[in-house]
Amino acid sequence: MVSRQEILSQLGATSQPWDVLVIGGGATGLGAAVEAAARGYRTLLIERSDFAKETSSRSTKLVHGGVRYLEQMNLTLVLDALRERGHMLRNAPHLVHDLSFVVPAYSYFSLPYYGFGLKVYERLSGKLSLGRSELLSRESTLEKIPGIAADHLRGGILYHDGQFDDARYAIALLRTLQDLGGTAINYVEATGLIERGGKIVGIQAHDLEDGSIFDLQAKVVINACGVYAEETLSLDGRHPGNSLLAISQGSHFVLPPTFLPGNTALMIPKTADGRVLFAIPWHGALLVGTTDVPVEKTSPEPRALPEEKQFLRAHIARYLGRAPRPEEILSVWSGLRPLVRKGGVKTSRLSRDHTILVSASGLITVTGGKWTTYRRMGQDTIDRATQIAALPNRPSPTLELKLHGWTHEASTADSPWESVYGSDLPALQALSKQDASLDALLHPRLPFRLREVVWAARHEMARSVEDVLARRTRALFLDARAALETAPAVADILARELHRSDSWKANDLRTFQETARGYLYEE
Ligand SMILES: Cc1cc2nc3c(=O)[nH]c(=O)nc-3n(C[C@H](O)[C@H](O)[C@H](O)COP(=O)(O)OP(=O)(O)OC[C@H]3O[C@@H](n4cnc5c(N)ncnc54)[C@H](O)[C@@H]3O)c2cc1C
Repeated sequence: MVSRQEILSQLGATSQPWDVLVIGGGATGLGAAVEAAARGYRTLLIERSDFAKETSSRSTKLVHGGVRYLEQMNLTLVLDALRERGHMLRNAPHLVHDLSFVVPAYSYFSLPYYGFGLKVYERLSGKLSLGRSELLSRESTLEKIPGIAADHLRGGILYHDGQFDDARYAIALLRTLQDLGGTAINYVEATGLIERGGKIVGIQAHDLEDGSIFDLQAKVVINACGVYAEETLSLDGRHPGNSLLAISQGSHFVLPPTFLPGNTALMIPKTADGRVLFAIPWHGALLVGTTDVPVEKTSPEPRALPEEKQFLRAHIARYLGRAPRPEEILSVWSGLRPLVRKGGVKTSRLSRDHTILVSASGLITVTGGKWTTYRRMGQDTIDRATQIAALPNRPSPTLELKLHGWTHEASTADSPWESVYGSDLPALQALSKQDASLDALLHPRLPFRLREVVWAARHEMARSVEDVLARRTRALFLDARAALETAPAVADILARELHRSDSWKANDLRTFQETARGYLYEE
């Protein structure tokens, strides 16, 4: 793996413009960059924070067509997403898997209603179906989801959808981009757009680690900045701001698995505010969410609002028997959805379709969509980019592109978690053959090992304790207290790997601790 310094000097060394320059290293930007590199274009992606730091590490972890969008009759979105779901499972089997869901029915009417809807959902996926949906008796519903409230339960419907680890998927996209010859760098921000004759020919970039400012030339620039897309659009001085996006916040609780034992997820199709709510087994814990609350302001660390916490507690009590005690809520985190505005429509009913805008200056903005449709968004964006930059027209190869780590061999992982490393697993395991101390767990309540910290620094561009504990492993999202307890050990290893001083280590640890405290549940 080339070092950060080498990557930076490659950026500055060439006077030849990049074919495609992507701003933003979430699902959308990484998808567009992989698409461009896979078509053979010289591609650069810059991210001002860490890859997937924002919305793309805070999803409900579903690779799905979206049962809710079926109810809203958005068939195109459901069909597209179901097709993408099938291909994500084929191209990244180490990161995406089939999960069984049960919808409990508390009235005799809801059994045929949801049963029919989920049959249609299954049929729409055609050959890429993950399995048949079934009507369940009351007894088998209770057997499949043992924690579920039993009063007035009539039965249930079992169906299949995809589950993944969003941040690890983003890292697999980063590694795929590099395998294809593309370049990516984190902690570099786009602070300006360079125009010549009214057309954008590059950007001004700011290295947030050493403070340097430099120009990057490109034939086409793509704005994939998520909820910050309008901020980037207004860098050309012509966008009015605040007219394109509505922002909706969604929060999750992570609970001990005892709240819903077993491997089946629970789906509540209609909560009091008309949303879908999930309780999903995730890396040995239970993930419950999400909410949908319109918010005015963006933040890199959005916090769950009192009404969201209240909503989640009340629904957990209603469906899983009792509200969790504060100390049982292992982690609380929120994400912001960039939704394309439509006058007066509630955020929960705004379309999850994506939008591509081409400014008069040639800047391409891609926004909206879902994690599940990231590849399709990338394909559509690069189709536009090839026209703008007059690049040679080449067909999209990504529908069949296997992602970094793809393997057809049975996993030899020491824990279910480690199978996310796919074909990299033997090299990861070899680290603890060289140094047996790296075999130790980061924390008795977490499935991660010390060797993953070394791996993250050497191969996955991790630059801080937060990068390791929030996105290379998922410690912060799974159990914030455990993440805080293990942070000093992670800081030691990281400082050694990155050749950092003691004062850097102390600073970085303090920054992580401040961030991590926001993931602890407070009334
Ligand atoms: C609560 C919630 C649950 C969800 N659940 C699901 C789900 O289960 N399944 C699903 O398919 N989808 C889900 N989604 C949707 C999905 O997560 C998003 O569609 C997707 O992550 C958006 O990715 P993005 O790349 O557009 O945005 P982001 O991930 O936010 O990426 C944008 C990036 O741009 C960077 N950036 C901004 N400005 C600059 C700049 N000037 N210079 C450099 N970098 C910059 C930011 O730092 C950021 O990393 C969910 C969304 C939310 C909020």
